[in-house]
Amino acid sequence: MTVLIASDQIEAIKTHATSTYPEECCGFLLGVDSALRTIHRTISASNANAESRRNRYNIDPMDFIRADEEARKTNLNIVGIYHSHPDAPARPSQFDLEHAWPWYTYIVLSVQNGVPKDVSAWVLSEDRSNFRQDDLRISGA
Ligand SMILES: [Zn+2]
Repeated sequence: MTVLIASDQIEAIKTHATSTYPEECCGFLLGVDSALRTIHRTISASNANAESRRNRYNIDPMDFIRADEEARKTNLNIVGIYHSHPDAPARPSQFDLEHAWPWYTYIVLSVQNGVPKDVSAWVLSEDRSNFRQDDLRISGA
């Protein structure tokens, strides 16, 4: 799938990821689906993982409810989740695979030594055995 996101939303993800480094940040991708999936907005969430926030994240179900309400107000849907990988590559981990939901776009941002680097987008395969990489396109502001 092709995923379109505005550069200012990518910047918002980078700012969030820098602020939580060396722990992972996470948040929601709000948008609409047509021929492509367009992400119009991001909403940050707290990393609710209690054991290992440097390489794992969990999102509080209450944050999901709040983000969903926020999305509906502007006729958007939650179409995915973003999170960062401090000092790790911009590809989903085994933990991410085990906790992923179908249909969602997962944007992963690598942060190396506190500096945002590569960003990529992924979707769970039909049989849930792995991720397929999406075609992530960043549009100008
Ligand atoms: Zn991850």
